Amino acid sequence: MAERARAYGLSNVAILQFPADGKIFYGTQRSRPAWDPEYAELWEVSWLGNTVVGEHTMAHFCCDFKTKIASFEAEPVVLAEDSVGNIELTSELVDVGEGTKESDYAGKDVKGMIVLASAQPGAVQDLAVGKLGAAGIVSYAQNQKTAWWGEDENLIRWGHLETFSPNKTFAFMVSLKTARGFKERLARGEKIMLQAVVKAGQHAGNYEVVTATIPGADPKLEDEEIAFSCHLDHQRPGANDNASGCVTILEVARTLQKLITEGKLARPSRTIRFIWPPEIEGTVTLLNARPEFAKRIKGVVHMDMVGGGPETKAVFHVTRGPMSLPSFVHDVAWAFADFVNEESYKFAATGEAKYPFVAPEGGKEPLRAEYSTYTMGSDHDVYQDSSFGIPAIYLNDWPDRYIHTNFDTATNIDPTKLKRAAFIGAASGYYLAVAPEGVPIKEVEAGQIIRSSETEHKARQVGGEDAQNLKRAFLETESEIMASLPHSSGSRIAEGEIRFQTILPLKILNEGLGKAQAAKGDGLLVLKRKKEPRGPLAVFGYDYFAEHAKAAGVATPKLLSYEGLWGAGEEYAHEVLNFADGKRNAMEIRDAVSAEYGPVPLEMVVEYLKALEKIAVVEQLK
Ligand SMILES: [Zn+2]
Ligand SMILES: [Zn+2]
Repeated sequence: MAERARAYGLSNVAILQFPADGKIFYGTQRSRPAWDPEYAELWEVSWLGNTVVGEHTMAHFCCDFKTKIASFEAEPVVLAEDSVGNIELTSELVDVGEGTKESDYAGKDVKGMIVLASAQPGAVQDLAVGKLGAAGIVSYAQNQKTAWWGEDENLIRWGHLETFSPNKTFAFMVSLKTARGFKERLARGEKIMLQAVVKAGQHAGNYEVVTATIPGADPKLEDEEIAFSCHLDHQRPGANDNASGCVTILEVARTLQKLITEGKLARPSRTIRFIWPPEIEGTVTLLNARPEFAKRIKGVVHMDMVGGGPETKAVFHVTRGPMSLPSFVHDVAWAFADFVNEESYKFAATGEAKYPFVAPEGGKEPLRAEYSTYTMGSDHDVYQDSSFGIPAIYLNDWPDRYIHTNFDTATNIDPTKLKRAAFIGAASGYYLAVAPEGVPIKEVEAGQIIRSSETEHKARQVGGEDAQNLKRAFLETESEIMASLPHSSGSRIAEGEIRFQTILPLKILNEGLGKAQAAKGDGLLVLKRKKEPRGPLAVFGYDYFAEHAKAAGVATPKLLSYEGLWGAGEEYAHEVLNFADGKRNAMEIRDAVSAEYGPVPLEMVVEYLKALEKIAVVEQLK
């Protein structure tokens, strides 16, 4: 990436390095040591029986029957991440079902054996290896549940061990087909001998973040940046997740640089930055270790899975931010996406359009991008976390039936889709980098119409006081989105005017809206997030909340496993913390997350807030 960025004429190209040794913290991220897989193979070998030599029983194998089950060299996804070992061992395979509970092992001696488990290796290792002395794990865990989940038994899914577990071991990932074959034979009482050869280790290393810029033209604004983001790391293959995002922002970099150099586009006043980090942990690290990045970046276009063709069954989303961070920037992205939707549909339906956005080798299907409410799961969470508060446009495919499998290959990528994602991202980023050249009030109004009908729809689902709460939250959020609009002395639309034009009609529409219930008791609790540690509380490969709650003797709050109408535990928790700004009381926070993810009891919000206070992430105002 750095070499390409240089070749394309970008400025300030650098590979930033941040030590990662398992001990250093970057905000909420405990740095994960580097993982070096060098060699790994799994074979089935024939079993001839035991020979007793003196007091030793020797297992007897022969080489006339040896079948290769997995090879890291041929298919890297077969070795679970954070596998550790320098071994060559032959051992019996024991089926332990899920492998996560004591009862899975009842009546089975797994000491020195390889266990066959349906759970992720990381969920099995402490019990199977740590407690019961197993030598290693073979897993067929199915992750990333979609409608196609478990359907294609040839898929090998990405798996991982727990980075920080003291019970180091190795794990191979096999397909459902392979696992089913093993299970049937074991159930018949057959003995299966596997030979595992593994050379892999963890050691102190560095997070590497590639970055480059197109410097801004305005000396007053050049310290303000609009960033393009993606994530460079993942299992291999990882065509849609996330080579697609990485190459698309690279193509955006090339195109913008070329158009600006040739004078076809004016140099924007703000600097445009490109960032290729390891997912989430790289972003948490960068924003903590180099706080000037967090200070300069005013908006982000994040791409994670933007190339899925029809084979993947993907729906393309332009995902909005969390309700805790109302911003106009998502409406800007939607305006461009809506334009591509229309033009590409016109082309698909009639064979003619001014802007078909079709790549020569790509599909001609219309883009049917959706403007979606906030979903979590990539680096956009980090930027939009309240410790940074940077609005991020998230362009992403979901579902993708091949995500995190050996079938996430380039054959499933549609060049037309990449081109369209590149356009939407480039246009949005460039627009934000030049703004304010005008105020995108029409675009925000268009977004508001969509949000208004969504609110109405949700209000009908819940009814009563919860419906009133939704409408109040909508009005408040829309006012804040309006207030986030860029101001410039030249073209500023007075805030009063904005309110008159858009908020007033909404208010009239919602006349008769009752007042929120007054807080009492614990509902009056006001907490404020502390400045440190910065970052989301459950980050990649490390759960800051879980580890600190355990150390402080705090029981797992019920909110974390709560299932709401439009969201679940982790999402509620993320937003409760984001809303803890020292102004809202617990009741108001409950109302806010209830509007976002569905009604939730006040007690659960209070319990979680108090847990956050115990681990010193929030504090009471003095
Ligand atoms: Zn992924
Ligand atoms: Zn991803």
